[in-house]
Amino acid sequence: MGKVTGFLEIDRQERKYAPAADRVRHYNEFIIPLSDEGTRNQAARCMDCGIPYCHNGCPVNNQIPDWNDLVYNNRWEEASRNLHSTNNFPEFTGRICPAPCEASCTLNIDDNPVTIKSIECAIVDRAWSEGWLKPEIAAEKTGKKVAIVGGGPSGLAAAQQLARAGHTVHLFEKNRKAGGLMRYGIPDFKMEKHHIDRRVTQMEAEGVTFHYGAHIGVTQDAQQLVDSFDAVLMTGGAEKPRDLPIPGRELAGIHPAMDFLPQQNRRISKESPLDNKPILAGGKHVIVIGGGDTGSDCIGTSLRQGALSVTQLEIMPRPPDKENKPLVWPDWPLKFRTSSSQQEGAERDFSVVTKSFTGENGEVKKLHCVRVDGKMQPIAGTEFELKADLVLLAMGFLGPVLEGMLASLGVKLDGRGNVEANVVNYKSSLPKVFSAGDMRRGQSLVVWAIREGRQAARAVDEFLMGESTLPR
Ligand SMILES: Cc1cc2nc3c(=O)[nH]c(=O)nc-3n(C[C@H](O)[C@H](O)[C@H](O)COP(=O)(O)OP(=O)(O)OC[C@H]3O[C@@H](n4cnc5c(N)ncnc54)[C@H](O)[C@@H]3O)c2cc1C
Ligand code: SF4
Repeated sequence: MGKVTGFLEIDRQERKYAPAADRVRHYNEFIIPLSDEGTRNQAARCMDCGIPYCHNGCPVNNQIPDWNDLVYNNRWEEASRNLHSTNNFPEFTGRICPAPCEASCTLNIDDNPVTIKSIECAIVDRAWSEGWLKPEIAAEKTGKKVAIVGGGPSGLAAAQQLARAGHTVHLFEKNRKAGGLMRYGIPDFKMEKHHIDRRVTQMEAEGVTFHYGAHIGVTQDAQQLVDSFDAVLMTGGAEKPRDLPIPGRELAGIHPAMDFLPQQNRRISKESPLDNKPILAGGKHVIVIGGGDTGSDCIGTSLRQGALSVTQLEIMPRPPDKENKPLVWPDWPLKFRTSSSQQEGAERDFSVVTKSFTGENGEVKKLHCVRVDGKMQPIAGTEFELKADLVLLAMGFLGPVLEGMLASLGVKLDGRGNVEANVVNYKSSLPKVFSAGDMRRGQSLVVWAIREGRQAARAVDEFLMGESTLPR
């Protein structure tokens, strides 16, 4: 423990955001990091609890008290080594993780938690800038070949672990670049994409071969792939969006969020567009249906494109302003949160259901809504209309896309429509085929995808070699 009285003397101080009026003029990241001294002070607040709940609250089990102590004592390189022993990509989670660790910090019981996520990000950003992060090339090759389908955080983490264990790893990705939803869903203002490119370069040096434009089960036969590798790990994500099949859905101007967000990300990275029509929010009244992360990303992107107004509708009631800490700690609490994008100027409304869309000349113009009670039943007399030129559907994802790879291989699904595999051996119903990440657990978080990728890598290594020294 760095400073014994740190938590008594120092208040929590978070990284600040650039002012909303400035940041909506561009798509770059806008978080202003703390100084090294400021970060050390925040690390000094950690109490090094006998039972560190944060360590358990973190899905990759980051050894948080250990690196807080190292940062406080100015041992940044060792802190980076410690952090990388549990997390392949802390610069991703340090930017976009919702930080369940902070919810479970002991200081969060009756005070403000340690700024764990900011410290994590400061460690890894410093490690990159100091040149401490080098490719870790396996000393010996095993002669075993592994195919990974999907280049999201889960596939990337697994590929890095397996290459470092000495296997020959080929990663197949249907898009033109790696990163999955971090590349094409999450906007640049939350995470710039050079962070992913830098890891891809590191992994190429470690021996991972990336195959882009390789849509397994569509442009490349899935069974042939399985036949030509010693093991296959499917990390294709949960890309099937939830639709809203109500009257008027066929009108132009109503789109799933993931038809809209990737276009902007591709524009920024100068990746040539796919052949679909541009969806732009500039000069429009935008309605976002769905109150989660994806909805927030639609708000921030619409505002940057110059939307006249953005309104976000949520079917659930407005959560309480504060959680009941004694009741929920150390779990993730339900409480009213305002994302940086919502802060930039969106109207938010709760307990609202959209009954139909109407339009003119085939284009959407209005939403017809009604308020609902606690059981989500419409309340008579509360009907209202909203003006809309663009409607973005951000109501979550149903599960993995079945057409193509999963259907052609005939892999067994679980009751929720995800690929069936447990979290001990990550084996699917097919011999030598494994699955991890959103494809196995359903729509989730980057940090869970990294955890599953790492654990699945160990399971594949054990399957190939009979034992493994990779961490679980
Ligand atoms: C808009 C949006 C915002 C989000 N914001 C956050 C956030 O702020 N924080 C957070 O923690 N999480 C966030 N998430 C969730 C997070 O991005 C996902 O949980 C995570 O990326 C899942 O990782 P994955 O590797 O399992 O799958 P994915 O990231 O979905 O990657 C799967 C990859 O597999 C490829 N693929 C699929 N099928 C095939 C095939 N047959 N052949 C070849 N390639 C294939 C896909 O093209 C994709 O690249 C967000 C999600 C969205 C949509
Ligand atoms: S990965 Fe997420 S949960 Fe884990 S320490 Fe970082 S911010 Fe916290």
